[in-house]
Amino acid sequence: MSAPVYLDYAATTPVDPRVAEVMSRHLTLEGTFANPASRSHMPGWQAEQAVEGARRQVADLIGADPREIVWTSGATEADNLALIGFMRANRSRGRHLVTSIVEHKAVIDTALALEAEGFEVTWLTPGSDGRITPALLGEAMREDTVLVSLMAVNNELGCIHDLPALAEVVHAHGAVFHVDGAQAAGKLALDVQRMGIDLLSLSAHKLYGPKGIGALYVRRHADIRVEALIHGGGHERGMRSGTLPTHQIVGMGQAFALAQEEGEADQSHIARLQARFLAGLAELPGIHLNTDVEVSLPNIVNLAFDNVDGETLLMALRNLAISTGSACNSASVEPSYVLKGIGIDPARALSSLRFSFGRFTTDTDIDTALGEIRHAVTALRR
Ligand SMILES: *Cc1c(COP(=O)(O)O)cnc(C)c1O
Repeated sequence: MSAPVYLDYAATTPVDPRVAEVMSRHLTLEGTFANPASRSHMPGWQAEQAVEGARRQVADLIGADPREIVWTSGATEADNLALIGFMRANRSRGRHLVTSIVEHKAVIDTALALEAEGFEVTWLTPGSDGRITPALLGEAMREDTVLVSLMAVNNELGCIHDLPALAEVVHAHGAVFHVDGAQAAGKLALDVQRMGIDLLSLSAHKLYGPKGIGALYVRRHADIRVEALIHGGGHERGMRSGTLPTHQIVGMGQAFALAQEEGEADQSHIARLQARFLAGLAELPGIHLNTDVEVSLPNIVNLAFDNVDGETLLMALRNLAISTGSACNSASVEPSYVLKGIGIDPARALSSLRFSFGRFTTDTDIDTALGEIRHAVTALRR
């Protein structure tokens, strides 16, 4: 049997071969393998140079200064460092954090941990398009609000937040703005200056880089201090200790540099594929969009299927690698908290699937998916 068609780019992307090639030159004796913190020999300096080159590549994609990039193990750690690190460092200024109920678990579970530590969290509910309006955010702001955390692009729906408008509200109240940009980097023009982003979480593996590496952008400003969560050696300006993984870092750098060069071409390719997918779906009855495509990236299409169970449909679509967005525990299947969060009823949420496209998706992949969906839905409804 041939491999299923991969339509789960929002979960992770394959590494671009050009990224893999650069990584492979930073591992072996013949390559740039040394510890970038080794100051006493040439191999160490070369590794440091490679890391600093990648730092500039990542900074360039988001309009930052390289000194504002802190390497982490991924966006999960970056979210933890931003939320816990910032709230702890600013305890004396206030203990209130504002976020939403449709954030990635890396933000939600971290905010819950902060609540357990004695901080206060306001959990905003988005509109049916998955977005928080500046007006709603304004109502949640308090005298003691020190941090607001909202994602740039939702990983289940694809909806895009109006970051400049939200940043304006945050700053008008003297707070700091953290954005989870894992799904957005390289897909929309993220500019930390123009958008008023103070802390930005990034991941390599949603953008054709390797898993296990990410970064937190930390604006250089006297008011923006982040307490380290990982101690030992004081790497990364004291914010994140640990030997830097050169091969991972150059992979992320190369992936971000490619996104800078080719991101727009990728996005027009993906927009064309999405249009083809939506046109094909329009011919099938009983399929609804959970994604509001007017306010979303073309990369993610979340669909509800009338009168079919999502798990059963997923089984029938075994030639497609896609995702339900629902969390499976051993006992039961829970509807997605994101779909619930935008007001979709549990039955419809359980009949929903997420399709996500990327650089390597082809017209043939889309046509295969449409054929499989038509076949499976017709058979299951019969
Ligand atoms: C994937 C993802 C994360 C987690 O990133 P990792 O690098 O896998 O830790 C966080 N937030 C969003 C929105 C994501 O899509």
